[in-house]
Amino acid sequence: MDLPRYAYFHGQIIPYSEARVGVLTHALNYGTAVFGGLRAYWNAEEEQLYLFRPLDHFKRFIGSAKLLLMEIDQTPEELTQIAVALLRQEAYRCNVYVRPLAYKSDEVIGVRLHNLAHELSIVSIPFELYVTNDTSAHVMFSSWRRVDDNMIPARGKISGAYANSSFIKTEAIQAGFDEALVLTQEGHVSEGSAMNIFMVRDGVVATPPITENILEGITRKSVMKLLTDEIGIPVVERPIDRTEVYLCDEFFMTGTAAQVTAVTRVDHRPIGTRVMGPVAAQLRQIFSDICHGRHPKYHHWNTPVY
Ligand code: PMP
Repeated sequence: MDLPRYAYFHGQIIPYSEARVGVLTHALNYGTAVFGGLRAYWNAEEEQLYLFRPLDHFKRFIGSAKLLLMEIDQTPEELTQIAVALLRQEAYRCNVYVRPLAYKSDEVIGVRLHNLAHELSIVSIPFELYVTNDTSAHVMFSSWRRVDDNMIPARGKISGAYANSSFIKTEAIQAGFDEALVLTQEGHVSEGSAMNIFMVRDGVVATPPITENILEGITRKSVMKLLTDEIGIPVVERPIDRTEVYLCDEFFMTGTAAQVTAVTRVDHRPIGTRVMGPVAAQLRQIFSDICHGRHPKYHHWNTPVY
């Protein structure tokens, strides 16, 4: 992976090579940081780069920081402006991933959240597919369980909680799968290692409610609206059992990195017709058009960079 050329660090845009922290940094030792992940999409015809729903992403980011007792000085609008300035400085003409991070920056020993300074950084890198097999992914149910709200809240996008996601992802990859689904302590389907999940069963789309230890995904929220308003299929939020997934007609995962990834096999069982289904196919097309700024009705989700 190529490194960024610039970083927003200590209140300024500086060369990435100068954005450095010491090894005693609290967040590096104890996982006391929160992060975000946004995409910007290059529209070649318009020569425009569109950031996707930055205000929603930064609102969630500020909320995540609040859970770790970090008050972010900037508003979502101001953070969006910083991200836009950074992307302009990089002068990207390609699809990009943007990574804001708020971290406990004191270089001290001692496990806690209080009485610690924090810093904010934002970097960006060119980015294409995250799940390479995104039209026919084969996923497994992880042997790991999702962190619970009373352990490390999944809705917080807390760096330390991504050790849990890392166990889940690596088990799947080492076993030859593309991704894994993870169950809650109660045994309901929660989400993937870094994506929300949707199942189509008998003409209804179901997705786990936000009380199932999921990250409250911006793509999830977008897709729920598109399924209802554009595709015309009802969407319900309800607990999902593992074996419902085996029997469903279509299954897909959503996330900033994963976008809309169609899953066609789960634990070696074919899903539906064994190929990507019509709901996922339509959704992928609409979502891609919207992200690239090609759908006037959803222009309010696109923030132009240039
Ligand atoms: N769940 C987890 C655990 C994630 O890390 C992500 C990626 N941010 C998602 C779901 C999807 O969220 P979003 O659509 O906001 O990227």
